[in-house]
Amino acid sequence: MFEQYNYFELNKEQEDIKRAAREFAESEIPKFAKSCDENEEFPWELWKKVCKNGFVGVFIDEKYGGAGYGYFENALIWEEFHRVDPGCGFATLGTTIGAETLQLNGTEEQKESYLVPLPKGEAIMAIMITEPHAGSDVAGIKTTAVKEGGYWVINGTKTFSTNGSIADYAIVLCRTEDEGERHRRFSTIIVDLKSEGITRTKLRGKIGMRASDTAEIHFDNVHVPGENLMGVRGKGFYHIMDFFNRSRTWVAAQAVGAAQGALELAVSYAKERRVFGEPLSRFQAIQFKVAEIATKIEAARCLTYKAASAIDKGKIIPELSAMAKWYAARVAVEVVDECLQMHGGYGYFSDYDISRFYRDVKVLEIYEGTKEIEKWLIGRRILGVKR
Ligand SMILES: Cc1cc2nc3c(=O)[nH]c(=O)nc-3n(C[C@H](O)[C@H](O)[C@H](O)COP(=O)(O)OP(=O)(O)OC[C@H]3O[C@@H](n4cnc5c(N)ncnc54)[C@H](O)[C@@H]3O)c2cc1C
Repeated sequence: MFEQYNYFELNKEQEDIKRAAREFAESEIPKFAKSCDENEEFPWELWKKVCKNGFVGVFIDEKYGGAGYGYFENALIWEEFHRVDPGCGFATLGTTIGAETLQLNGTEEQKESYLVPLPKGEAIMAIMITEPHAGSDVAGIKTTAVKEGGYWVINGTKTFSTNGSIADYAIVLCRTEDEGERHRRFSTIIVDLKSEGITRTKLRGKIGMRASDTAEIHFDNVHVPGENLMGVRGKGFYHIMDFFNRSRTWVAAQAVGAAQGALELAVSYAKERRVFGEPLSRFQAIQFKVAEIATKIEAARCLTYKAASAIDKGKIIPELSAMAKWYAARVAVEVVDECLQMHGGYGYFSDYDISRFYRDVKVLEIYEGTKEIEKWLIGRRILGVKR
């Protein structure tokens, strides 16, 4: 459906990737979507299949077991999975979260140890930045890592960590320096989450993306080998910002896919549902609504593809990634609202998939930088205003 609008020219390989992701998502994800949402359960069996079929971590170099594709191909897969179900899409593809920065900044040994197991489905990763008192203000975090002998000793609490209770290891942003400029006091450290002193609590009760695991992690004198420092000491804040410049393209792709999926549900419904003796689709008000929705999705898709391909061309443009993420997420929230509206009262019940999409998409305006933080970044970059 709507393939004819896909004007962003995909080459043969990219078309094959997109088609394979769509076919896999359509045949496998629906079996898990509803129950994983209802039970807040990670789709273990589905995740294994997604890995086996080569969709996880495709941006990871072939040398480290990935497909060696770019962020563009990665976005195509995220889009197709989220078109079918955002919760299971995020749960399964998001198992490599943090690998983006590890691939850029890790040592050879770190990449061998921590990247290689991810596409194979032998490990799950997390990235822990947010704390109970500080999310948007990344430099406001308080978790400390103090060097003692050959170890980093970590104390503090991280929250809202995706995969937090199921991941094998995580990149943890810690404050390592007492002095110096505010943003140069942090470092990123790879932590084995089975280490002594770690308590993990799964956070239940999310309104959406319930197949994805989210947890609070407490670190009490956790000893981590000194060589687990990732990247440059004191540059952790900047490693995280660079991670966001990349990860925001997959959030934008999540939004485009979810919005597309919602539109397709609404279009099917509008063709079947009869009102005033005619199918809903015959009414001009509905046709206008569908026209606006489809146009917004297409604009969001173009921006998302542009941002992802810029990264693959080596152009890191923070405001472009932020524009794609902010705009696509806004479109998804608006579009899913209108698509539920087209379902009338039925859309308000969980029997209809649109109700799940409605709950799932809101978080796209919250994680990897809230919509306010995205706009702040875009505005500052355009106006040339320093923080
Ligand atoms: C499902 C889920 C998964 C997540 N996964 C992860 C993860 O894997 N790792 C991780 O580290 N974090 C994760 N997060 C955390 C997420 O990144 C934060 O929730 C987000 O960055 C916002 O931080 P906060 O919740 O502390 O809100 P706050 O920073 O307290 O912001 C509250 C509100 O104030 C606004 N605001 C803040 N500062 C300004 C300002 N200067 N100007 C205008 N408005 C402002 C915000 O936009 C927001 O609307 C996840 C969150 C959720 C819900």
